[in-house]
Amino acid sequence: MQILNFTRNSLEEFLTGQGFKRFKAEQVMQWIYQKKVFSFEGMTNLSRQDRETFSQIFEITPLPEPQIFKSKDGTRKLTFTLEDGNVVEAVIIPEEKRQTLCISTQAGCPLRCAFCRTGSLGFSRNLEVREIVGQVIAAEMVLEESGQRLSNLVFMGMGEPLLNFDNLLKSIDILMDDFGLNFSNRRITVSTAGIADRIVELGERTNVNLAVSLHAVNDEKRSRIMPVNERFGLKQLLDALKGYPVGRKMIVLEYVLLNNFNDLPEDALALAKIAKLLDAKVNLIPFNTFPGAKFEPTPMKKILEFQNLLVAKHVTALIRKSRGGDELAACGQLGRLKHNGDKDA
Ligand code: SAH
Repeated sequence: MQILNFTRNSLEEFLTGQGFKRFKAEQVMQWIYQKKVFSFEGMTNLSRQDRETFSQIFEITPLPEPQIFKSKDGTRKLTFTLEDGNVVEAVIIPEEKRQTLCISTQAGCPLRCAFCRTGSLGFSRNLEVREIVGQVIAAEMVLEESGQRLSNLVFMGMGEPLLNFDNLLKSIDILMDDFGLNFSNRRITVSTAGIADRIVELGERTNVNLAVSLHAVNDEKRSRIMPVNERFGLKQLLDALKGYPVGRKMIVLEYVLLNNFNDLPEDALALAKIAKLLDAKVNLIPFNTFPGAKFEPTPMKKILEFQNLLVAKHVTALIRKSRGGDELAACGQLGRLKHNGDKDA
């Protein structure tokens, strides 16, 4: 059994069921998540007998060592080749006072958004809990070498987090556990393309921040770029968002600007209305292009005009600085990649 797939509660339940003391779960978790010790032999406060028994019951398999691609701006993309050949990626994004890790939840993505490279590559499978949490462990180990630590986690990598819901919840549990990776809920953001029927439940079962990839302000346009909109239309999505228990949490609307498609003044005004309705902030995302992309980026001048229209309506709207583009580490660029000048498949 993979011990990294257990939350603390489930590990305690399992261990007490086997006749062990409950606190052994905490001890083992501290060794793994905090001291990054991945063999029971090294867990020196456990008795020899326990170490042996645990080694027989559990495997501790973090992700294989990642390949690291460093972009000019300091962004580092960690590319993991999993045991079954699937490739997943996580991105460390350095900012002045923060180190943010962008995490993947699926190998590939089933949603096929028209502007996203990951979507164009298709879906392989959900990641296990250990593969999700493993990205954080690996990034912490990379940063440790330079005396740095991760401060924020965003579920904005490959895949749709709310379509891997159980493993997402378990991962958040471990990420927030005092004996796990010990992140505060305020430093974790889950981004969804709009799986409306899971949004309210996410809000009930966690207290993390929510980001929503809105990208269009009416069903006609949204369905053209996001097939998921055919399943959960805008009204259903907005209703779910209204039900997201804010107060201790924050909703961010993500809006990728596609030239002459969703960047007209009327789009900005409708977006302002939605933001006010939800009391949400807006993150404007310059479109990152990739080979075969069907859209053009909106020129920066026009992005600023779009932002001004929102600000004039008293909506907080930030322009997300694109990071890591030279190593295809930016939003929507993740996927099995060819490097070193290879032609894209
Ligand atoms: N499936 C989730 C998690 C992925 S988040 C979601 O859709 O929210 C990845 C973010 O990057 C999303 O907001 C996505 O819409 C955005 N994105 C995708 N492709 C992009 C591109 N080519 N340029 C800029 N942003 C992009």
